Amino acid sequence: MFPEFTLRYARLPERFYERFDPVPVPAPRLVAFNQPLAEALGFDLAAFDEPRAAEWFSGNVLPAGAEPVAQAYAGHQFGHFNPRLGDGRAVLLGEVTDREGRLRDIQLKGAGMTPFSRGADGRAPLGPVLREYLVSESMHRLGVPTTRALAAVTTGERVFRRVPEPGAVLSRVAASHLRVGTFQYFAARGDQEAVRTLADLAIERHYPHLQGPALRGLEDDERYVALLEAVAGRQAVLVAKWMGLGFIHGVMNTDNCTISGETIDYGPCAFMEAHDPAMVFSSIDDQGRYAYRNQPWLAQWNLARFAETLIPLLDADQTRAIEKATEVIKHYEPRYEAEWLAVMREKLGLVKEEARDRELAEAWLEALHAGRADFTLGFRRLAEAVHDEAPALLALFESDGALREWLPRWRERLSREGVGLEAIAARMNAVNPLYIPRNHQVERMIAAAVEHDDFAPFEALAEVLAEPFTEQPGREAYAEPAPATERVFRTFCGT
Ligand code: AMP
Ligand code: MG
Repeated sequence: MFPEFTLRYARLPERFYERFDPVPVPAPRLVAFNQPLAEALGFDLAAFDEPRAAEWFSGNVLPAGAEPVAQAYAGHQFGHFNPRLGDGRAVLLGEVTDREGRLRDIQLKGAGMTPFSRGADGRAPLGPVLREYLVSESMHRLGVPTTRALAAVTTGERVFRRVPEPGAVLSRVAASHLRVGTFQYFAARGDQEAVRTLADLAIERHYPHLQGPALRGLEDDERYVALLEAVAGRQAVLVAKWMGLGFIHGVMNTDNCTISGETIDYGPCAFMEAHDPAMVFSSIDDQGRYAYRNQPWLAQWNLARFAETLIPLLDADQTRAIEKATEVIKHYEPRYEAEWLAVMREKLGLVKEEARDRELAEAWLEALHAGRADFTLGFRRLAEAVHDEAPALLALFESDGALREWLPRWRERLSREGVGLEAIAARMNAVNPLYIPRNHQVERMIAAAVEHDDFAPFEALAEVLAEPFTEQPGREAYAEPAPATERVFRTFCGT
């Protein structure tokens, strides 16, 4: 049933990882399986057998050809450098080639204690596994680059966090698990050869155009400057998408910043409800380092750490190398701003580009903030206001003075788009979701699974989130913000 493995990472020199077999679990049970993704990865599902799949996705039985490794990496956690983090509870089984010909990592998260566990148990509780499964798949449907969830298995074991919880293993699929922290691990050891190996691997897997004929004449140093630029570009695109959805990652440490530009590690992440640029959910982020409005600049900070690891590759002359790196990192700002504006234009129904669009978008966000209006529904219901009357939009605002001033400005701007208002409303609805993984729905789903072994809410929520832009009659409640009694203000890593 498993597609054939390519052991690209496991064939790197030994210092890139620790060989490590998943630690068996007593009673694996498959609780979620992503059939469309499995098909896209080339799994043969004709022979699909649930108990067998549970053995595989728990790590109890290794699929043929897998050579599991725990990857080495370092990372800045909340600004503090840790030279050795690594996969403390995850193993990479290997890479498979998907139906589009792309290499994809398959990793088991929660697979037991590895040489990188640093005293922790190597396991994952069911709640965070289901959260990551659901939110990562939702992000994918929302058009955000992200790791994917292939399967979730309960283990029959308890793991001990604040309270004992059922243990689980998540099968995660990624374009790769290369992180800024992977480069930092070797740079911190002065291992330039390893950094070059990683840079070449990153180009091969994520930026193959940098190997292409057009660049074949490139000197190596230009190639690595181009890699840095490319990674910065992907981060700009990614964070702009997060900002457009009110998504707060929560732990943007350098070990959670991918070279591929995918979102990774859905720990204390959350979607904002009432719009507040200073919003923070994570219980461990007491300084608000990773607040909503800081995300673009923390991504830039992470990119600067990435650039530092590449310095020896960027130019033989160190001063020149630092200048080149600095230029790219500075250039991230206008790039991000341009991506953000593109996202906002789309969300506001604008295709043409006018000089005052940024101001218009900012004024809209200020109106949302002043009115404490729900971020997601604010954008969604704006489409109903293309003409004039929009009671459902107004109802979201505690105070609507700023909104009432803004709406005529926006309509006047729409009048210069040169297309009918209905067409504008339709294109807005195609980019402004109605359904996102609302925190209270996610909490309810987790409580049912963890406390009552009831996965029906998980299934129901996954089904709704699979079509985020389409109105689903009978499922109105999933679009609603939390009732006052269920509002979520704090989220926990739960690792
Ligand atoms: P994360 O917060 O998931 O990004 O993880 C940060 C670091 O802590 C990584 O090196 C993880 O492998 C490690 N880690 C997190 N949870 C566990 C756990 N339960 N057991 C061992 N290592 C862990
Ligand atoms: Mg992580």
